[in-house]
Amino acid sequence: MNIADKLVREHRLSDTEYAELISNYEDKDLAKYLADEAVRIRKEIYGDAVYARGLIEFTNICKNDCLYCGIRKSNPNAERYRLTKKEILSCCDIGYQLGYRTFVLQGGEDGYYTDERLADIVRTIKTRYPDCALTLSVGERSFESYRLLREAGADRYLLRHETADAEHYRRLHPSEMSLENRMQCLRDLRTLGYQAGAGFMVGSPFQTMDCLAEDLVFLQEFQPEMVGIGPFIPHHDTEFAKEPAGSVELTLFLLSVIRIMLPHVLLPATTALGTLNPIGRERGMLAGANVVMPNLSPVENRKQYELYDNKICTGEEAAECRGCLANRMKSVGFTLVTDRGDYRS
Ligand code: SAH
Repeated sequence: MNIADKLVREHRLSDTEYAELISNYEDKDLAKYLADEAVRIRKEIYGDAVYARGLIEFTNICKNDCLYCGIRKSNPNAERYRLTKKEILSCCDIGYQLGYRTFVLQGGEDGYYTDERLADIVRTIKTRYPDCALTLSVGERSFESYRLLREAGADRYLLRHETADAEHYRRLHPSEMSLENRMQCLRDLRTLGYQAGAGFMVGSPFQTMDCLAEDLVFLQEFQPEMVGIGPFIPHHDTEFAKEPAGSVELTLFLLSVIRIMLPHVLLPATTALGTLNPIGRERGMLAGANVVMPNLSPVENRKQYELYDNKICTGEEAAECRGCLANRMKSVGFTLVTDRGDYRS
């Protein structure tokens, strides 16, 4: 039995099998076979529904210095901003009226948002919109902090592991950060009952097929409810400015592999994928994705939340984004739905 068939039948492979499978991502017949299986599987579980998560990028102030990221603390050219509670709530209001039933609060690791302040925001949103799910994506915090935020009502947490290879992790991050701590955070989130999201960039500097195979084995073991993957895109003010962007084809191939490995996973076609290819998000759906994350941040701040160059959708109002995405999903046979879009186990 070949490796692709084995993945389809058993939903798991060894690290060497993953490395061999993904090394063949340029084989168009293989990519098509996996994409068709991935779509078949997602349709069995989620039908043709695409879940929308209203993304609120509420601060670009960050104490970390991840080498790839445009809002790293040592980028003096980043124009910093932070939304007030009132501004965040007004983003939610607009989003709610547009039909969003999940809000994602994402930001840099900004010390202003103490547990108390953030828990207050979480509690207020959950009280105002009891029918909505709230996702946090605010980086590494203590177990106690995650516990307080969960108690305040947060349902889900996105924390990409970035790479499962410790040596690779060290080359992408300053020495104060460690893969060990990131993984501990993911385990803590799981213990506390969050729906947890892991993930990684495709084509980050120094990444090899073996690194990606380790990422896949990690996802297979951890079984996250959500997986965020998107191509690496260089940012002009980082030391990776001259590095090539990740491959769209490899990202799509990996989306299919991840869907087959984790049939129930909530899997976004990311903005980074849409940035590198004009129909990247549509192609993501055709590869097995079932989530999109339209931007709800105030238009005046969207360009400032610049993790990488040429980010799309920084000029449109939230309503336009919604309409545009609904049409894009429809063009490939999927339906953007108004629904919390919880994990179906
Ligand atoms: N501070 C939060 C949110 C980080 S931003 C946290 O630590 O989780 C969300 C994701 O954007 C990151 O996890 C990273 O995978 C991705 N990202 C950062 N810089 C990028 C770049 N240059 N290209 C593509 N994706 C990038």
